[in-house]
Amino acid sequence: AKALGGNRRTFYSEEMVDAVTRKLAVELALRHALEQEEFQLYYQPQIRSCDGKLVGVEALIRWRTGEGELVSPGEFIPLAEETGLIVPIGEWVIRTACCQAVSWQCGGKADFQMSVNVSPRQFQEPDFVHRVSAILEETKLSPECLVLEITEGISIQEEERTVAMLTALKEIGVQISMDDFGTGYSSLSYLHRFQVDSLKIAQSFIGGIFNSSSQAAIVKAILAMAGSLNLKVIAEGVETKEQFEFLQANGCDWIQGYYFYRPLTKEQVERLL
Ligand code: C2E
Ligand code: CA
Ligand code: CA
Repeated sequence: AKALGGNRRTFYSEEMVDAVTRKLAVELALRHALEQEEFQLYYQPQIRSCDGKLVGVEALIRWRTGEGELVSPGEFIPLAEETGLIVPIGEWVIRTACCQAVSWQCGGKADFQMSVNVSPRQFQEPDFVHRVSAILEETKLSPECLVLEITEGISIQEEERTVAMLTALKEIGVQISMDDFGTGYSSLSYLHRFQVDSLKIAQSFIGGIFNSSSQAAIVKAILAMAGSLNLKVIAEGVETKEQFEFLQANGCDWIQGYYFYRPLTKEQVERLL
């Protein structure tokens, strides 16, 4: 900034002030939301493709503001990540989802799974494993019912540390799922090394199955290779009967998408159980 000329420097620093002010305002609003319990979890059912059985849900956060407006995670998760507030928010998500899973009595049923999204920033916390383990103890949820959805983003930089963290998580008994598979860098052998239990084929591939023969081929290849590595595959963003039938015919284990269910409130899920 020092190298910039007089006028431009003033302009630049005003911009910076604006950015800092905006960031602080957002941080305050998110902190307030956390304290006032304005966050809410929705749950999107996951269906076993061979028989249509409800096998689990993915917890998806929403922000119901004081004015009653429902804000989608795409709008505030990036800001929560930027400010570091994703750490306490993410912990709230894991605790709330675990409590909910127990109250749906899947504590003893390893065949009903609760998936939660873990952001890279959250995963970087040195005591992340410890916190997850404390929540499991506190809520009494069987660890194998909890699935942590990670993204390829967590693994790129510090591969050794990632492997150690994932190993520790496997030791406490939780499952790991690779979210948005196919959009990032990881190969299937990489997944194997990270001891991932399942992968979720990115929504963009599912949407493209019938528009592009290469996307259909990619989905088929992922399913075939995952099968040989004993990885369970979940397709998300399944919106049509044709997509569902294609996935079922090609051995995709689980399905999530509007074709079956949208994200539901906990009351709506209760009516399905
Ligand atoms: P994601 O993990 O890939 O979640 C799937 C998103 O796709 C959800 O959007 C879901 O509502 C939407 N979806 C599900 N089925 C369909 C379908 O058939 N068609 C279409 N078009 N969309 C479908 P949502 O709930 O808005 O969440 C967006 C993203 O925000 C999530 O993407 C995830 O990355 C993030 N997110 C949500 N909850 C949390 C959370 O608790 N913690 C963190 N760190 N991130 C979260
Ligand atoms: Ca997810
Ligand atoms: Ca996803």
